[in-house]
Amino acid sequence: MHGTILKSIGLSAILFSVSLPAHGSEGKKDRVIQQIVREISPARLDGTVRKLVSFGTRNTLSNQDDPTRGIGAARRWLVSQLNEIATSSGGKLKVEEQSFIQPPAARVPGPTRLTNIVATLPGTLTGDQQRYLIVSGHYDSMCTSPTDAVGDAPGADDDASGTAAVLELARVMTQHGPYRATIVFLMVPGEEQGLLGSTHFAADAAEHRLPIDSMFTNDIIGSSTGAHGERDAHTIRLFSEGVPSAETTAQAEVRRSIGGENDSKSRQLARLIQETARKYVPEMKVRLIYRRDRYLRGGDHIPFLERGFPAVRFTEPNEDYRHQHQNVRDENGISYGDLPEYTDPEYIAAAARVNAAALAEMALAPAPPSRVGIVVSGLATDTTLTWRESPGAAGYEVVWRDTAESTWTHSKATDKALKATLPFSKDNVIFGVRAVDASGHRSVAVSPVPVR
Ligand SMILES: [Zn+2]
Repeated sequence: MHGTILKSIGLSAILFSVSLPAHGSEGKKDRVIQQIVREISPARLDGTVRKLVSFGTRNTLSNQDDPTRGIGAARRWLVSQLNEIATSSGGKLKVEEQSFIQPPAARVPGPTRLTNIVATLPGTLTGDQQRYLIVSGHYDSMCTSPTDAVGDAPGADDDASGTAAVLELARVMTQHGPYRATIVFLMVPGEEQGLLGSTHFAADAAEHRLPIDSMFTNDIIGSSTGAHGERDAHTIRLFSEGVPSAETTAQAEVRRSIGGENDSKSRQLARLIQETARKYVPEMKVRLIYRRDRYLRGGDHIPFLERGFPAVRFTEPNEDYRHQHQNVRDENGISYGDLPEYTDPEYIAAAARVNAAALAEMALAPAPPSRVGIVVSGLATDTTLTWRESPGAAGYEVVWRDTAESTWTHSKATDKALKATLPFSKDNVIFGVRAVDASGHRSVAVSPVPVR
């Protein structure tokens, strides 16, 4: 299909000289990333989900001081787990609690203390070269009513599954490295109250100009079985927005003029995740969903998107609403409630592996190239791309696809030159440029903007 399209626009001769499929399954695999992927444990993930459920409810409005029940007990347990990881890593992982008082809001009747759990694994980059990769899950839960602070809200799938994945990623990834980029393992409350924990973190990050390259939220990644009994243990959905939530008027003008609505930073992130999964977790299909989130639903990536940070959402393939946001009960022979027996530890592990491969690839890769431009100083039948040096890059790769394709179909490796000229017109394809290190780790692709 790709070949046909390219041939029909007269590119067939060029394919032999410059292009390679960019499907990611090719190329040398990194042993460290393979090891990380292997070490993700379904049994530990299941243990975490069941432990979180054992706190009865993790509603954000629930008791914070009771030693065994409520969100406070759950938080203290998560922090203790992260502290153990920090100790066994010789202090590499830094664990902090970011507390704030949430004023009354739609689902918050009175001022309430919320606490984000922030575990940071510092990368080797320092100063203005630092980059942050954030992986998150929400540790709060809800039953039928979001403001029911006392009823059982097991929240096994939503979102003990995502929280367990973040804890497991912290445990496994801290044992490896060092990484160039800093990885933040984030667990937030208040998601069900209106994305409150993630909003606080994202606002604070924006205020301090934290250089966040990517944010993943893992929310409802626990079950491979849908409402009609359909089972799909080999697909995870990955939601990414097209037109950026934080787009400026000037950026919108450029986007409209070049047809850039399918090439936001979040979408390039989604493409990278799909490619690294093909390479390291081939049993999992990353199903790209080209929208910000599901109908009627939101997630913790949205506050990041609204502040201009690239962010995506992972969710299981087929949701079953009998096992989300429900009081635990039997009604007309149907069992309702978000209970651990409806989750699938092997599936959560597979989802965590997809996260791990992408995080490790990006954390080990050079920074994405900056100031990527496509030269428009005059009408030309060739295409010239330029960019700035990316520290640590051994070379660069120009990737492209037909405008009606959704993922990269071709790539051309360059050496350390900061410019490439391709013998065909920019009018008919969409380009990206990514940085590659000596071991083949690739950065996310950067979309060029017109330059003169
Ligand atoms: Zn959720």
